[in-house]
Amino acid sequence: MDVKGYSMMDIAPTVSAVLGLPPPAQAKGSPIQEIVVDFSNRKRVAILVPDALGMFAWNLWKHKMPYLESLHNDRSIVLRSVMPSVTPVNFATIVTGTDVQGHGVRVYTGSFSCETLFDVLRKANRKSAGVGLDDHTGCELMGKNADICGNAGEGSDDDVADKVIEIVDSDRPDFLIAQFVRVDYTFHKYGPSSSSVVPMLIGTDERIRKLVDHLGPLGYGIIIMSDHGQHDLPIASPEGKKGDHGTDTPEDRLVPCTWT
Ligand SMILES: [Zn+2]
Repeated sequence: MDVKGYSMMDIAPTVSAVLGLPPPAQAKGSPIQEIVVDFSNRKRVAILVPDALGMFAWNLWKHKMPYLESLHNDRSIVLRSVMPSVTPVNFATIVTGTDVQGHGVRVYTGSFSCETLFDVLRKANRKSAGVGLDDHTGCELMGKNADICGNAGEGSDDDVADKVIEIVDSDRPDFLIAQFVRVDYTFHKYGPSSSSVVPMLIGTDERIRKLVDHLGPLGYGIIIMSDHGQHDLPIASPEGKKGDHGTDTPEDRLVPCTWT
């Protein structure tokens, strides 16, 4: 398979192009033409983010995720996260098209120092939503800056999926981004190459299929990508972590992206 490389900063300009809107003012990336062409008949865009599912884990376990693998067999690119390869920084990049120097967000309680996709949509009288667990990036950083904040409580990624469905059914936002953070938690706990992560990945695959089946008929172009990857820790950290991220390595920075 021919796999092309792109930047995390290309996503915001891509979403803008699909929606027929200008990119966020400080965006440094460029629209990904393959996505823009495929989504030419889509009115809305949803980004589903299995947190920390990088190329390293994907290449090890994609055979356990037959639905997501089938999407990648049709359309697949690799995105390079910005540094540091952590969640709030890269989610902020997804919705601004710029790096940490440009958007100023380092923690999930941070504030944007530049224009976001949420602002661009608002100016055009169009609606956006951010969804995730309570006190996490999807709800706190995305939801609270969007028009609709989807707070899925303290539960599971299934709760996040249910909240996404509830929001698209009631409000039909033009842009939605959702964080599935239990993927990241599970990789931290066992290490991304441990077979103990497989049950979680099977559940993630089924959840993605369910969401695509629901969102597709509502006119959404759906992008499935991660914010960063993870690497195995040779020795468990003092807190008991066996996987981690944040470094400038392919394991932490390269993530798969597909769309349907
Ligand atoms: Zn993490």
